[in-house]
Amino acid sequence: MKFNEALKEIKIYEAGKPIELVVREFGIKAENVVKLASNENPKGCSSKVAKVIANNAHKAFLYPDDSMYELKAALASKFSVQSDNIIIGAGSDQVLEFISRALLTPNDAVLMSQVTFAMYEIYAKQMGAKIIRTASYEHKVDEFLEAYNEHKPKIIYLCTPNNPTGDATSKVDVLKIIDTIDKETLVVVDGAYMEYAAAKDEAYSITPSDLVAYPNVIYLGTFSKAYGLGGMRVGYGVANRELISELYKMRPPFNITTLSLAAAIEATKDEEFVEDSIALFTKEIVRYEMFAREKDFDYIESYTNFITYLFNDKINSTEIADALLKEGVIIRNLASYGMNAVRITIGTKEQNDRLFEVMRKVL
Ligand SMILES: *Cc1c(COP(=O)(O)O)cnc(C)c1O
Repeated sequence: MKFNEALKEIKIYEAGKPIELVVREFGIKAENVVKLASNENPKGCSSKVAKVIANNAHKAFLYPDDSMYELKAALASKFSVQSDNIIIGAGSDQVLEFISRALLTPNDAVLMSQVTFAMYEIYAKQMGAKIIRTASYEHKVDEFLEAYNEHKPKIIYLCTPNNPTGDATSKVDVLKIIDTIDKETLVVVDGAYMEYAAAKDEAYSITPSDLVAYPNVIYLGTFSKAYGLGGMRVGYGVANRELISELYKMRPPFNITTLSLAAAIEATKDEEFVEDSIALFTKEIVRYEMFAREKDFDYIESYTNFITYLFNDKINSTEIADALLKEGVIIRNLASYGMNAVRITIGTKEQNDRLFEVMRKVL
């Protein structure tokens, strides 16, 4: 059987290792496994949201409201845009997929930073498009504009804050890129961790309302990170209504579940939960920075809910990640991104205590 040629170029996405794997392979009890690998919220989700999911369990037989009226209205009001500026996806991942399928052909190129969210490449390659990367892992405006002029990409991905490095691009820099390029190129501003960046520094806070006036820009957000709903799979895109109506042509009906929809609606009503999550993070990340200084390796200043440790020659990221795994602590090795680095989600105080304890042992 002959598959689409484009598939030859695709490496399967390597997701963060699940707790179940550590239980199976190393015989560690699930409650003793510390998972700091997928940037999930260590506080879990809002208890109000958990209650709504439980209370709606009996509605599992019903398809969800396919208009997603209430969720779009809540997001529209939160971001000061209109409901027809919004499309909902099964995670913002699905919106990325809609974008890729709506725009790309094998004649197109896409532009992204050297080290960034792996799904941009995978969705683009599914369409046979060519991948262009800047030289630096940080989003450097000059590098983006130079590559833009040379390759005239159909899509530019700006991941801010960036996963898996944790650094961010200022609003001024993002707007500089948007204002320089012509309107034939779509700019995707992926704000999966924007809640953290906005809390840290106003200059890095980008909201959909900054962008909807542009015909060629889309903002992506998700309930998976700060809202603690990774398992519910709800994300969104916010853009000019013409762009959104084109993306709607790619959307399957009922693309999120009845329970996910109810959960996301409730989550928009509990911003206090997000604030508490960010407060925990802000307190705990200081310990990670101190730990790096103590052990004499570098880290990237984080605008997200994780920290990226940049190891020196004396430490090998693969060895560290494997050794931690055997102790039941899951982190993300960035060797596959060409970096001698690991990405660690900032956990609860107890999870972080355990991480430092095991790290001290294996280092
Ligand atoms: C987690 C993440 C997403 C999407 O997550 P979903 O769970 O699909 O909403 C998108 N972009 C980046 C950079 C992410 O880290």
